[in-house]
Amino acid sequence: MYRQNAWLKYDNKENKEVMKFSEGYKQFLSFGKTERLVTKESIQLLNEAGFKPIEECSSIKKGDKIYFINKNKNICAFVIGQKPLKEGFRILGAHIDSPRLDLKENPIYEKNGFALGNTHYYGGVKKYQYVTIPLALHGVVCKKDGTTVDINIGEDEKDPILGITDLLIHLSADQMAKPLAKAIEGENLDITLGNMPISDKEKQPIKANVLKLLKKKYDIEEEDFVSAEIEVVPAGPARDYGLDRSMVAGYGHDDRVCAYTSLKAILDIDASQLQKSACCILVDKEEIGSVGATGMQSLFFENAIAKLLSLAGEDDPLFSARIALENSEMLSSDVSAGFDPLYASVNDPDNAAYFAHGIVFNKYTGSRGKSGSNDANPEYYAFIRKTMDENNINWQSSELGRVDQGGGGTIAYILGNYNMHVIDAGIPVLNMHAPMEIVSKADVYEAYRAYKAFLVA
Ligand code: MN
Ligand code: MN
Repeated sequence: MYRQNAWLKYDNKENKEVMKFSEGYKQFLSFGKTERLVTKESIQLLNEAGFKPIEECSSIKKGDKIYFINKNKNICAFVIGQKPLKEGFRILGAHIDSPRLDLKENPIYEKNGFALGNTHYYGGVKKYQYVTIPLALHGVVCKKDGTTVDINIGEDEKDPILGITDLLIHLSADQMAKPLAKAIEGENLDITLGNMPISDKEKQPIKANVLKLLKKKYDIEEEDFVSAEIEVVPAGPARDYGLDRSMVAGYGHDDRVCAYTSLKAILDIDASQLQKSACCILVDKEEIGSVGATGMQSLFFENAIAKLLSLAGEDDPLFSARIALENSEMLSSDVSAGFDPLYASVNDPDNAAYFAHGIVFNKYTGSRGKSGSNDANPEYYAFIRKTMDENNINWQSSELGRVDQGGGGTIAYILGNYNMHVIDAGIPVLNMHAPMEIVSKADVYEAYRAYKAFLVA
């Protein structure tokens, strides 16, 4: 069902299904505030569905369900199908990192009666959106004794929240005259940690009090922040959005919405229906270029495929992995720019993604002359269209905005390097990269259905 509103398709029962599916997603999103937390809850869902970690497998056979974890921040799950692995995989991919603020290595300082936390932003953020909103801290502190402490402050109703101050309007004459990109400086995105001195004997009594509280709650010292990953993210759970509850508001839909729907598809798929083996890969670091050990450019994925082929008895698993990847098809999923009636002019209306019109396919993304894009082959796109229509799935096609308005990239081109068929797919989002992003429940559900249909097509 090309470019049609999905809500009109659902009868009462289906409408309830859509709402029910979104409840599971809201829970996932509310817990998964960081890539580590998404990995953690994904492992739990995989275990519940009978998947086994690769470390427990000594051979593989049809119907096996296996997963790989990479450094607690990136995950890859497989269901073994009827065909030999070398004939390729059906791959669902998405990223689980989201734009945010990270605490610096030496974050805590005291100034003019306040203890503050110094941050460095991660990914593309409009800095002004991060001031005067409730913020939470999530992450890990790794101590020299080899132990890791989980940090979680600001989500529980009884917890304090944190935040970043902004200037009062009364004294903002200079600030208001600046362009939006300059009104809030990156170095000024520092969170307020406290205002209560511990005693008049300390040189920095307010900072000392904050450190004392951290020591008491987490048994960590100031220097431990050097080997830590603490993310400052919007506090609070995902919620229904709109009087009709047709949408979900939350932090990190980009790209946890595609991650959840892709993961659910592989969790729910009937292994006996699979010809090619199914794969779902969830990666980190997309928002800063897919770099590093846990990003899509890492050899982790290729190595995982080679390990599977080795377990399947292939003599030359690395070469076989290349062949298997070349014979694969992928939906590289990331959120699309939803058409916003308040900012209609940034889109070409005939080539834009509309809320509730289903999963979006982007033949290409990129900037300017499609720079940086994986331009999907039309032969492959035809197969995708056929699969969507045969399964009565609402789907649409779009570009990321008008020509020369901006643009963006995804992980698709990296998988394209293996010479597999890849197309960008995903779910339209409003407020992309803002602390509160919006998606349509109908699009979430149609994407899930699309992923399942793709795996068995
Ligand atoms: Mn994204
Ligand atoms: Mn993004």
